[in-house]
Amino acid sequence: MSKPWSELNESERQKERDRARDRIAKCREEGRYGADWRRNHEEAQRILEDSDKDRSCYACGSQENVRAHHVDGDHYNNGIENLEWCCHSCDSKLAYQRRINK
Ligand SMILES: [Zn+2]
Repeated sequence: MSKPWSELNESERQKERDRARDRIAKCREEGRYGADWRRNHEEAQRILEDSDKDRSCYACGSQENVRAHHVDGDHYNNGIENLEWCCHSCDSKLAYQRRINK
């Protein structure tokens, strides 16, 4: 990642997304999905901290226990448009809903 997400144009963003997808596929193949997942979350957290987004839960507005949340459920999609601060309790609720909707 060289430029911040906000400075990328649409085709560069698409390229980043494709790259992220390849990375997921590769990690799954190699069976190291877990470790990479954690690294991606740390990266997501940093991207949000660098952004001008309010550090409050996008679902309930709480400022307690907020962390990086991937809106589309893809933990490798670290585009700023896919990242929101989310509190621990909403994050669990959203994850649960996603599981039962699958
Ligand atoms: Zn919340």
